[in-house]
Amino acid sequence: MNIRSRKKRIVTLDRNHLWHPFTQMQEWAEETPVIITEGRGVFLKDILGRWYLDGVSSLWVNVHGHRKQEIDDAIKEQVDRISHSTLLGLASPPAAELAAQLAGMAPAGLSRVFYSDNGSTAVEVALKMAFQYWKQRGQEQKSAFVCLHNAYHGDTLGAVSVGGIDLFHRIFSPLLFRAHRIPSPYCYRCELGKRHPACGLFCLQKAEEIIRRHKDETAALIIEPLVQGAGGMIAAPAGYLKGIRRLCRKYGILMIADEVATGFGRTGTMFACEQEQVAPDILCLAKGMSGGYLPLAATMTTEKIYRAFLGKYHECKTFFHGHTYTGNQLACAAGLASLRVFRKERTLQKMAKKILFLGKELARIAGLDHVGDVRQRGFMVGIELVKDKKTREPWPIDEKVGWKVCARARDKGLLIRPLGDVVVLMPPLSISTAELKSLTRITGEAIRETTG
Ligand SMILES: *Cc1c(COP(=O)(O)O)cnc(C)c1O
Repeated sequence: MNIRSRKKRIVTLDRNHLWHPFTQMQEWAEETPVIITEGRGVFLKDILGRWYLDGVSSLWVNVHGHRKQEIDDAIKEQVDRISHSTLLGLASPPAAELAAQLAGMAPAGLSRVFYSDNGSTAVEVALKMAFQYWKQRGQEQKSAFVCLHNAYHGDTLGAVSVGGIDLFHRIFSPLLFRAHRIPSPYCYRCELGKRHPACGLFCLQKAEEIIRRHKDETAALIIEPLVQGAGGMIAAPAGYLKGIRRLCRKYGILMIADEVATGFGRTGTMFACEQEQVAPDILCLAKGMSGGYLPLAATMTTEKIYRAFLGKYHECKTFFHGHTYTGNQLACAAGLASLRVFRKERTLQKMAKKILFLGKELARIAGLDHVGDVRQRGFMVGIELVKDKKTREPWPIDEKVGWKVCARARDKGLLIRPLGDVVVLMPPLSISTAELKSLTRITGEAIRETTG
């Protein structure tokens, strides 16, 4: 079969049988999709042999590039021993080794690892853990949660209950448990009508009011540290995260840090919490955990919380939760290999210079007519497009400006995906300065040509 007919066959099969995530399938059926068949470094190759820069790390997961030798080898070696055995009643070397390494590098006190296989489940585990913890401490009434406007913690119903994105979450509201929402630290469009830094972090005062009112019935607060990702790459001002940690402690509620997106170097440190010297009570990890190779997630917690679940079997203090592929051996082997590469290649140290370079490049994009705000924390970037730069008036939703910019970029060899009218850049940590340069050059051109 030649390449064109092979492509045609895949397109037909896809159209007839697939249902893509977060996708209006009516529009999908009208377009010809890019079919990815290979990857190398920060590039992806399509079925026709065209190469693209992977500008969002294959949806925020890839860390050291595609086909990274060390990770490829680790997976192959593991396949030759065993790919999966259960953690229900059995142990395994990769799961134990990885747990110990995570405990050694996570923020202080997080010494226990509960595995699952995606970000949403890592969050479900955190919520249920916090809830059951208080029950077993005799504080039955502490069953509610506090979360942020614009929060995204995944798509399962528990995670949606603590979500704050109307477009995704509103329709499911009858299915959800109650959560108390505090303002999003979204300085460009402050919901409290304030200006940073003159506001003195007024959003923290508002948060305190709400937390104080509900403290007795609240089990935990959940937050994406430093950057609210899917909500639009909303970067919190300095001191906000530390302020939230202080409030949780003051009012006796647990703090859950959802580092599913920010973890594993994404913001320039291994975990975003480190940047404000914050240690949460519970930490959620996923996306970059296996280097972007295989589904793998973890919920980490302290010995204090862990111990509240200890007891004789008949006391029923067991944490009755688990997923079939929990602690999958292949995925854990990939995770271990990824951490080895972090150490061997000094990935984080090398990032520092590249983050500064990216910042300088982005300053140019910030000057464009229809760019309202550019937000960057390490390799997490959001470029908010507006109809009117002065008044900050957004584009009408049916203009689909974010989508048009990304389509334009695709024609120029760059794959990126917008969040509404926020263009997201999230390259693999291994990207070179020259590759960063093409990432920003093409993005700038695509914005100019689409909005100009
Ligand atoms: C992506 C994401 C999730 C959900 O992870 P899945 O693996 O898609 O279920 C949860 N929290 C944050 C902060 C995320 O970015």
